[in-house]
Amino acid sequence: MDGLMQNVPLTVDRIIDHAAAWHGARDVVSRDAEGRVSRSTYADIHADAKRVSNALAAAGMKAGDRVATMGWNSARHLAAWYGAAGMGVVLHTLNPRLFLEQIAYIANHAGDRLLIADPATADLVEQLLPQVPSIETVIFFCDRGSLPATSFDAIAFDDWIADQPTDHDWGGFDENSACGLCYTSGTTGNPKGVLYSHRSNYIHALMTLQRDALGLSARDTVLLVVPMYHANAWGVVYSAPAVGAKLVLPGQRLDGESIYNLIEEEGVTYSAAVPTVWQMLLTYMQENGKRFTTLERVTIGGAACPESLVRTFRDDYGVDVIQGWGMTETSPLGTVAVPNAAVAAMPADAQMGYKLKQGRLLCGLEMKLVDDDGQRLPHDGKTPGRLMIKGPTIARGYYGGDGGDVLDAEGFFDTGDVSTIDAQGYMQITDRAKDVIKSGGEWISSIEIENIAMGHDAVANAAVVGIAHPKWDERPILLCQLKDGASASADDLKSYLDGKIARWWMPDDVLFVDSIPLGSTGKIDKKAIRAGLEGYKLP
Ligand code: ADP
Repeated sequence: MDGLMQNVPLTVDRIIDHAAAWHGARDVVSRDAEGRVSRSTYADIHADAKRVSNALAAAGMKAGDRVATMGWNSARHLAAWYGAAGMGVVLHTLNPRLFLEQIAYIANHAGDRLLIADPATADLVEQLLPQVPSIETVIFFCDRGSLPATSFDAIAFDDWIADQPTDHDWGGFDENSACGLCYTSGTTGNPKGVLYSHRSNYIHALMTLQRDALGLSARDTVLLVVPMYHANAWGVVYSAPAVGAKLVLPGQRLDGESIYNLIEEEGVTYSAAVPTVWQMLLTYMQENGKRFTTLERVTIGGAACPESLVRTFRDDYGVDVIQGWGMTETSPLGTVAVPNAAVAAMPADAQMGYKLKQGRLLCGLEMKLVDDDGQRLPHDGKTPGRLMIKGPTIARGYYGGDGGDVLDAEGFFDTGDVSTIDAQGYMQITDRAKDVIKSGGEWISSIEIENIAMGHDAVANAAVVGIAHPKWDERPILLCQLKDGASASADDLKSYLDGKIARWWMPDDVLFVDSIPLGSTGKIDKKAIRAGLEGYKLP
């Protein structure tokens, strides 16, 4: 027997409809590459999104076609995002920080017909076009006066939508229709396309709005540092309008000073970003004696969160750091490290141990640990296994069928992460399967050593990789980037680690480097580190 409730499709156009109708006057603040700040509202974004839909329709775009954007977080980008989705066109976010060859591969693979890009990427677009014949039209996110000089015909976004009407029939399609396309950065092999549906994005927004997840509210001012081209912007493009939070879009400048100024000028209460962004912000604040007046909490995800970061935010600046885990394939949020009742009752130091884990599962998802044969492993907080996840916001395959069948017999997706799950249900990543160091048949967690090393006063960033060893298979070495003006020796670092990690985890060598290479989304790029270490011999 069917229930007797209305069967309203969960399509994301309803989110911006809701924001415009019920939070219409709420601000959307956008800063461009030159530092100019422009102000609009959810009602304005809604109207512009409708204009975008009409402009897309005029360009012959139909439901299921792909329109690519390559831009930083801005109000125009937001309008394009909803304008495409509302009419069933698939919004494909390209990451301008990738290499040209990768972007070309991705755009060809997606079959993008139209590209809307930031003016700052004009040179890149110039090189890209000859390699991606499917792109018919290029639009730049700007007004006519800021249109970059190009050898091809390009249109200013503002001109493109200027004469379009603000009505367009949205929705009316199945909630399982494709909504957005986002490629994984391809740290192994070619990038693969994750194709979100309207339903998965809508459900993900609701899941992340729980108080124990991102917990946004109408009273929040949200600074969206996570780029819109990275992992679905952690769903914040949906969750912030859904509750009518003020949304601040920072554009291209993500250095400590720019982020700090925006937080203070706009009264930001909440923000989300990868650890490297927060590290830059804290360094700027420490060097310049700055304080926060409004910031209450930040979500850190995308890479493990060092203890020093949590402590500095909490003890020196009164800001609560909440760690989240997820991946492009999981929409992305899967677990969040908020205390449950048992953990909340523990002394502060014991709670810290749980804050540094990747957290507990959101309702609607299932997870399990398995060994190499797919057999379930215990949730004892000690036994590491491959982390598998299942649910309505988890990919069931890649665009174009790449990677083949990605689910196991029980329908779980293999995250490629190695982790433990403890008796309280807290999941802790010990490594990515490809970064885990196998020494003498046992696994060493590179992430754990990195996090501890980052707690040393002189260390700005640290990375641990495995080096082939004739007897042990692999042994860890530690690469350290020191803070400006700081000094430390290999022995200093080793004695700092001594007692904090198992004896046999002690890195065989400590190398000091000018900088730790970061990938296009700000994470430590171990592939680049390993390439740079070719020919290196253990002492
Ligand atoms: P990629 O880094 O491959 O481009 P994603 O941005 O989707 O793709 O990254 C997902 C991966 O990032 C996860 O599988 C996990 O290894 C890592 N990750 C995400 N959040 C955390 C976290 N809080 N702690 C440790 N690792 C994390």
